[in-house]
Amino acid sequence: MKTEPGQTVIDNGVLIDGTGAPEIKDGCVIIKDGLIEYVGTRQNAPLLPESIRRIDANGGTILPGLVEAHFHATYFNIRTLEDLDIKYPVEYVSLLASVNCRLALECGYTAARSGGCLFNVDVWLRTAIENDLIPGPRLSPSGREICSAGGLMDWNPEFRKIGMEGLVFIINGADDARKAVRALVKDGVEWVKTYPTGDAAAPDVNDHHTLCMTFDEMHAVVQTAHNHGMKVTGHCRATEGIKNALRAGYDTIEHGTFMDDESMDLLLERDVPVIPALYFEKASVDRGHEFGLSQQVIDGHQETLDGGAASALRILRAGGRLGMGGDYGFGWNPHGDYARELTYFTKEVGFTPLETIKCATRTGAEIMGRGHDLGTLEVGKLGDVLVVDGNLIDEIALLEDRNCFIAVLQGGCLKAGRLAPRQDTRVTVDG
Ligand SMILES: [Zn+2]
Repeated sequence: MKTEPGQTVIDNGVLIDGTGAPEIKDGCVIIKDGLIEYVGTRQNAPLLPESIRRIDANGGTILPGLVEAHFHATYFNIRTLEDLDIKYPVEYVSLLASVNCRLALECGYTAARSGGCLFNVDVWLRTAIENDLIPGPRLSPSGREICSAGGLMDWNPEFRKIGMEGLVFIINGADDARKAVRALVKDGVEWVKTYPTGDAAAPDVNDHHTLCMTFDEMHAVVQTAHNHGMKVTGHCRATEGIKNALRAGYDTIEHGTFMDDESMDLLLERDVPVIPALYFEKASVDRGHEFGLSQQVIDGHQETLDGGAASALRILRAGGRLGMGGDYGFGWNPHGDYARELTYFTKEVGFTPLETIKCATRTGAEIMGRGHDLGTLEVGKLGDVLVVDGNLIDEIALLEDRNCFIAVLQGGCLKAGRLAPRQDTRVTVDG
C-alpha cells in the first residue's frame, strides 16, 4: 500500500492515542512519508512551514484508524444463513466483498482481521488492497472455516447431495483436521477459523451449549497451523468449548460467551485476546422477527448477549485483552454498522470510551500480529488516522455516522471522510 510522501499535520482536536492513556486536549499528530513523526500537544510540536498539508480537526477527535477484529468481507448481508453457502458463485461473492471492504474503510476501519470467509476470497482481497487496486482495510485474511460433521456449519441435508464447499471444511477426526489446515496453508491464509461450539442460531441440535469439534480435532488444527506459522481462532460459546480451545493453544477466542473461573484462569495465564462480537446478538434480538428468526432463536441470542456482555466486562476488569468486531454481514446486522459494537460496549456493557477505543485500535492491531506498526498513535507507526468532527469522549456514537468523519488516512494517504471525494455504494440486503 502506498504511503503519502512529505509531511501532514493534524491538529485542533482532542487526541486519543489508543494506548488507553488519557486524552490530550490540544492534540497534534505529524505524519512524514507515511509514518508518525510527532504525537503530543500543539504547543510542544516542532515548528512547521506554512506550506505543509494541514488537516483541521475542527475541535473534534484525532484517533488511530479503527480495527474490525471479526470481519467477514464475503458475508453479503445475507437474508438467511443457508444463503451463505449456496446463493452466489465465487465471482459475485468476490465483487460483493470488495464493496464491503471499501465501505469498511469509509467507516473509519483502516485494518481488519477476518473471522472466516467464503472460498479463498480474503487472501486476494488483501492482495488487491495492498496493491491499491481497491480501497479497504489492511486485511489479515482467514479462509474457509472448519467444523466437524453434524456441527453448527454442516447444515446442508444429505439428500441435497452437496457439501459445504463454499464456506466450510467438514471434518471427521484429527486426520481430516490436519488435511483441512494443509489446504489452507496452500491457500495462503493467516488465520484458521474453527467451530468448537454451537450457537443460538441452531437451537435444535447445535445450540450455544453444544460442542461441535472434539479436543483431538482442535489440537490437530493448532499443531498443524502453528507448524506453518498460521494462527487459530474459533467460535466459542459453551464453557467447555472455550476451555478446549485454550488448552489446545488457540491464539484468540471468538465470543467467549460463557466464561467460568477456570476458563478465566486459562485465558489470563496465556493472555489470549477475546473478540466478543456482541452486536450480532444484539441485532438478532432487535431485528430477528423481521428476518423470520423464531422466538426460540431470539431467546437464545438474548441469553448469549447477556452472557457475552458479562464475560467481556469480567475479562476487561481482570486485565484481559478484548478486540472489537461485530460479526457484520447478515441482513439484520449489515456491513456499515461496525461502530455500533463500540457504542454498545460503552453504553450498555460498561466500558469507558477510552477502554472501548483501546480495544478497537491497539488490541485489534495486536490480534492481527501488527501491534508494532499499527493500532496506536505513536512515533514510528504507520499514519493510519481517523479524524472525527465531535468529541468521542462525550459521544462515542459519532463513530456510527460517516458524515462526522473529516478524514480517514492510511499511511498518511487521505482515503475517505469529508476531505476525500465520496462514493456511497453498498451491498443491499441479500447481496
Ligand atoms: Zn463470525
